[in-house]
Amino acid sequence: MARAPLADAQGRLIAYLRLSVTDRCNFRCSYCSVADHDDPARLLSRAEIARLASLFGRLGVRRVRLTGGEPTLRKDLVEIARDVRRAPGIEEVALTTNAHRLAELARPLKEAGVESVNASLDTLRPERLGAVSGRGARLEQVLAGIDRAAEQGFAHLKLNTVVMGGVNEDELGDLVRFAWERDATPRFIELMPFGRGAPVPTARVKALLREQGILLEPSDRRGWGPAHHLRGVDACGRERHVGFIGAMTENFCDRCNRARLTAEGEFQACLGGEARVDLREPLRAGAPEAELERRVRGALGAKGPRHHMEGAAEGLVRLRPMMGIGG
Ligand code: SAM
Repeated sequence: MARAPLADAQGRLIAYLRLSVTDRCNFRCSYCSVADHDDPARLLSRAEIARLASLFGRLGVRRVRLTGGEPTLRKDLVEIARDVRRAPGIEEVALTTNAHRLAELARPLKEAGVESVNASLDTLRPERLGAVSGRGARLEQVLAGIDRAAEQGFAHLKLNTVVMGGVNEDELGDLVRFAWERDATPRFIELMPFGRGAPVPTARVKALLREQGILLEPSDRRGWGPAHHLRGVDACGRERHVGFIGAMTENFCDRCNRARLTAEGEFQACLGGEARVDLREPLRAGAPEAELERRVRGALGAKGPRHHMEGAAEGLVRLRPMMGIGG
């Protein structure tokens, strides 16, 4: 029987799932929060992830992003990527990573069918990376991972920078040039209230880029996500783009097309909201697919028109740690 495609309470179609494969991370970013448990049975197994990917594919999800925590900490990540790519209905698999293990994984992930990689890169200065992401974070390893990914010919390679007041505002131009030299798209993300740090509004980021020699013009480029783009020209005269994700000052909830599945198997309808439901327990208890579908549709039915992250700093909203949700 044909099923109605997934839609939320506002009628927005949900075709994009951000799937967290672990809530653990080898970095300790100041703006993010860490999981401390160590019981692997908490996490969805590879087989459970494959089953849920098939369910979501049948419900109309077309694109899955593997995220975390740090997804490359999962030893079975390549197999998970392959399973998800083969799930019926899924047309695209993407990955978000801190790139620390990407030098060894970029090629097997490409071969497993991953089309697109987002690597986090907040700074090009080793001492700053240590200060922001903890002493285990080694810049040369991150850069080697990004370079290896750039060699694989992914359809998209994006370098995500969270802009933090007093931390990395002075190197935004360098980050753009670094990305463009690797055929990658740099993207600047406004800090959301999940940890520490001073947010820098997107409008200010654009002004800083101008001051740092990056001249940009309007562009109509759009992707799957909330980023809007401006276009510029690199040192070789080629057209390039820069993405901006203004989650706080440029609300894009009206265009929301996504939901999240946590590493522990909770379906979360909105990153900054509370509509969520457990899928792991019924899955493990052998519940029929119709019951899982009922739960998913129920959570989407409770999804509000927009996130309420602005209230988090005042304690008005109880946000779950980014790690667990899959940022
Ligand atoms: N570990 C992977 C990584 O570093 O990309 C994937 C998970 S991480 C939670 C996904 C993305 O969320 C990263 O680009 C990270 O910079 C971003 N992020 C985490 N906390 C954030 C916050 N408070 N505000 C804005 N972006 C954040």
